[in-house]
Amino acid sequence: MVGGGPAGLAFAGVLHRHGHPVAVLERDPAPDARPPGGTLDLHEGLGQLALDKAGLLAKFRALSRPEGQAMRILDADGTVLRDWRPRPDDRANPEIDRGQLRDLLLGRLAVRWGRDVTQVVPGTRDGVLVRFADGRQEAFDLVVGADGAWSRTRPAVSPVTPHYTGVTSVETSLDDVDTRHPDLARLIGDGSMAVYGVNRALVAQRNSGGHVKVYAQFRAPLDWHTNLDLADVEAVRSSLLALFDGWAAPVLDLLRHGTAFVDRPLYVLPVSHTWTHVPGVTLLGDAAHLMPPLGAGANLAMLEGAELAESLASAPGDPDEVVRAFEERMWARAGRWAKTTTAGLERLVGPDPAEALALFDQVQPS
Ligand SMILES: Cc1cc2nc3c(=O)[nH]c(=O)nc-3n(C[C@H](O)[C@H](O)[C@H](O)COP(=O)(O)OP(=O)(O)OC[C@H]3O[C@@H](n4cnc5c(N)ncnc54)[C@H](O)[C@@H]3O)c2cc1C
Repeated sequence: MVGGGPAGLAFAGVLHRHGHPVAVLERDPAPDARPPGGTLDLHEGLGQLALDKAGLLAKFRALSRPEGQAMRILDADGTVLRDWRPRPDDRANPEIDRGQLRDLLLGRLAVRWGRDVTQVVPGTRDGVLVRFADGRQEAFDLVVGADGAWSRTRPAVSPVTPHYTGVTSVETSLDDVDTRHPDLARLIGDGSMAVYGVNRALVAQRNSGGHVKVYAQFRAPLDWHTNLDLADVEAVRSSLLALFDGWAAPVLDLLRHGTAFVDRPLYVLPVSHTWTHVPGVTLLGDAAHLMPPLGAGANLAMLEGAELAESLASAPGDPDEVVRAFEERMWARAGRWAKTTTAGLERLVGPDPAEALALFDQVQPS
């Protein structure tokens, strides 16, 4: 297994539960080597099903935040347009911090940290060869690439690389929002808050412990920051405030109080990315089907990991046949989600803000 993200850890966790050891090769030198990122909503039939297969659903329920399913949409002038709140018993899509999810999936799994894979070579005399940045190499019977958007495993099965969607997301965050910015805390509510304008959006998501992640999303060329030093927090702030000029002051406070800014251009793989099966190698999660971040990627990644592990553990025959059948299922399901999320991004960060509202009206429970 290459990669210890949601896909890789779900795969390893389910195999482990069935008594099969698996080597998880992870580039990060330690679990907390970099900030884990924002909050994830895990759907009942996807991410939660994967946790169930790993025997972790009860622990997830204890950690997750059902109240985080709340969603509020404001107009650029600050008017509240929609305010959805979950019922007390609603467990359809609770939120969990990425760091909490990682620790839950990690459990007692033995991950080999600091193993930076540079190349995967199938069909050698010893099996599938994995090469590392430090010059070492190791052979395996089956290599599962769950190494994310810029996968080093992917070239072993497919020449395709991600392309830019035309939408950039600049991320910032606020700490201790309830005590330091109570007005913003009230504006955001218990879950997420979003404002949609012409080709731009501001989204705020509450994480646990009063931490809030803010995403300023806009259509722009990849080099939109050519004349900007991205490390200069005040320069980026001013540039974003100019971009969202005219929006209500309380909404812009999300940018005024943000601590640091991270530029995250949104890349995707083609909607129906498939490949000719290569014996001994496959891909899971973002490595196989990177799509716009609209609530599906981690869910699919985890379910794929859990399903492939379960199939391998229960099939005494040729593992390659299991992988081949799994790939067909994964492609069909991921293709549907990629289509939905690609269309979703067009409507959410597009020329007509009414389209964003209409999309939420379609997907939110009434
Ligand atoms: C802002 C944002 C919000 C999102 N919100 C949601 C959400 O609410 N719900 C949802 O379902 N999805 C969400 N997603 C999508 C989700 O984050 C991804 O789809 C998911 O993380 C994919 O999991 P993965 O395991 O395939 O890849 P990753 O999470 O990218 O994990 C890959 C792992 O492989 C390791 N790795 C990479 N290269 C190498 C290498 N060469 N050698 C060894 N290891 C390597 C990495 O260090 C990492 O640990 C969001 C994404 C973004 C950007």
